[in-house]
Amino acid sequence: MIPAKGYAAPSPTTPLGPFKFERREIGPHDVQIEILYCGVCHSDIHQARDEWGGSIFPMVPGHEIVGKITKVGDQVTRFKVGETAGVGCFVDSCRTCPSCKAGLEQYCDFFPVVTYNGKDKEGNPTYGGYSNQIVVDENYTLHVSDKLPLSGVAPLLCAGITTYSPIMEWKIGKGHKVGVVGLGGLGHMAVKLAVSKGAEVTVLSTSPSKKADAEQLGAHHFIVSKDAEQMQAAAGSLDFIINTIAAKHDYNEYLQLLKLDGTMVLVGVPNEPLPVSAFGLIMKRRRLAGSLIGGIKETQEMLDYCAENGIVSDVEVINIDYINEAYERMIKGDVRYRFVIDMTSL
Ligand code: NAP
Ligand code: ZN
Ligand code: ZN
Repeated sequence: MIPAKGYAAPSPTTPLGPFKFERREIGPHDVQIEILYCGVCHSDIHQARDEWGGSIFPMVPGHEIVGKITKVGDQVTRFKVGETAGVGCFVDSCRTCPSCKAGLEQYCDFFPVVTYNGKDKEGNPTYGGYSNQIVVDENYTLHVSDKLPLSGVAPLLCAGITTYSPIMEWKIGKGHKVGVVGLGGLGHMAVKLAVSKGAEVTVLSTSPSKKADAEQLGAHHFIVSKDAEQMQAAAGSLDFIINTIAAKHDYNEYLQLLKLDGTMVLVGVPNEPLPVSAFGLIMKRRRLAGSLIGGIKETQEMLDYCAENGIVSDVEVINIDYINEAYERMIKGDVRYRFVIDMTSL
């Protein structure tokens, strides 16, 4: 086994702290990665605090991982020692179900082996990217260009792909009016990506102080979602909404912003189910949909697209010992727009 160190949540109510553990010895198809940066996703907080239920402790969160390959198994063909690589939200899947065969491993019939807070095929707990190294099968490892600052690339592995995937699935581009609800880690990537595809983007935020940032990110309009007048003025105006809100809120207020046949995609995951009025949907044949991260093929496509188009996340780089404060700030919506841990601080 390979000795590793990281930061772990010992229980849902205990702050994260230093933790020693082991990674598996590299197998023939594995690569070993020295982690340089790991983004802090709101899903890390949901899971570290067991807000979705079923969390496994101690938990080393982190699924926005970028680092350098330090070792490769003897049958690895796609990576070499010294290359930059990324790991996202899952590290394995059944590989045989229709979703896996279609490159949609995130929708695996047996659920993928998630990067942390999961169990691998041997039944061992998985530990994520708030750590110094990770061992991953090369087929679940991504190529990362060195053209862009790696701290800004790390969040693409979750926030980037989670917003890119619905934009591609719904073929969003020129001529579409797109709403992005919640300007946090996912939201700011949704703005950048939708703008890059040529869409007209409106940010809907509870934070009036984020207006200037929204414009700087490329958004064309900004609505304070708590302002009923502004919301009413925008009724029936949008083709597509990406809803990234991480907490309990009223879906119906956003559904009424959609035009005929408009779609709102939920990517944010509030802890509890929320009521949806049938009227809001039937009146304009509106659709409410969901989307989960993206498959390996699409994640690679997104990383290549971002490298070509100079798209990275706006980040606040932190040391690992700031992680508990970072969580508190994220819960308050006080992050511009992704915390990324510099793993050399471990
Ligand atoms: P984040 O950085 O904390 O951003 C969430 C944003 O939502 C906040 O910045 C805030 O924006 C807004 N918000 C927060 N609380 C709110 C409330 N009570 N009412 C209205 N708006 C509120 O979080 P994130 O990392 O982007 O993640 C967002 C959600 O997506 C989380 O639930 C996460 O678990 C989920 N997620 C899902 C997937 C997927 O595959 N579907 C992947 C990754 C993450 P404003 O200040 O602009 O209002
Ligand atoms: Zn995430
Ligand atoms: Zn599968």
